[in-house]
Amino acid sequence: MTSRQTIEILGVPYEKIDEIMDFLSKAGLETGGTGSKVRPVVSCKGTTCQYGLIDTFALSLKVHEMFYKGYSDVKLPHKFKIAVGGCPNNCVKPNLNDVGIIGQRIPVYNSNMCRGCKDCKVEEACPINIAKVENGKLVIDKEKCNNCGRCIGKCTFNAIESGQKGYKIYIGGRWGKKVKQGKALEKIFASETEALLAVEKAILLFREQGKTGERFADTIERLGFENVQSQLLSDDILKRKAEILGAQLHLVGGATC
Ligand code: SF4
Ligand code: SF4
Ligand code: SF4
Repeated sequence: MTSRQTIEILGVPYEKIDEIMDFLSKAGLETGGTGSKVRPVVSCKGTTCQYGLIDTFALSLKVHEMFYKGYSDVKLPHKFKIAVGGCPNNCVKPNLNDVGIIGQRIPVYNSNMCRGCKDCKVEEACPINIAKVENGKLVIDKEKCNNCGRCIGKCTFNAIESGQKGYKIYIGGRWGKKVKQGKALEKIFASETEALLAVEKAILLFREQGKTGERFADTIERLGFENVQSQLLSDDILKRKAEILGAQLHLVGGATC
């Protein structure tokens, strides 16, 4: 298996490629997925995992249909990898992909309910130890909280009864020869539809503003993260969708594998 959960078959003679593709297709197996375009999507088992905060299989299927299949003829500057993770445990490393989606549950904390217990159940439940009782009140460091939602429902006095569902999106990650950690957009998207739109904008931006041969991480570095982020958070790029898709761009893509 490759990192995209696909299979590489070695040693097929060139003249037999069509034959083996037919053979595989009769067994319901798809071939392809390489080149300077959206690659097969990777998903963690968040749908069935005890920590899963979103239905990763259902979302990945949508990403697969909309962007792997829907954009299969769209030439990009380089390969474009998308991964979907169910929680901040990062089992499929969404932040090391061109775009990574991570399920979120933002705890809704009512500090008026907090009684500053000696043994705080929320403190105990937080796996990264950023929820702490200070001066008689629980304090959650919002900058450090990864929205894993593990503290929800743990408070004896119902100070954190619920959480808001969300989707965090990382852009510009890369694995392989030149590893680069992706950076999260500042907005946590409230719905799947919004998250999918952000992914589409990222692909369109890469096609329009990326230089042939560069990965999305390089495009972001060249244009500046803030610039890219503001474009992904506005809808301007979607208004240019037909124009971007119709342009003669990246006819010879930059992907070598
Ligand atoms: S990333 Fe989270 S939801 Fe996905 S498999 Fe790992 S622990 Fe489970
Ligand atoms: S358990 Fe609840 S009430 Fe007690 S300190 Fe923690 S958050 Fe506050
Ligand atoms: S959501 Fe997760 S990281 Fe944030 S305070 Fe709760 S347990 Fe800690």
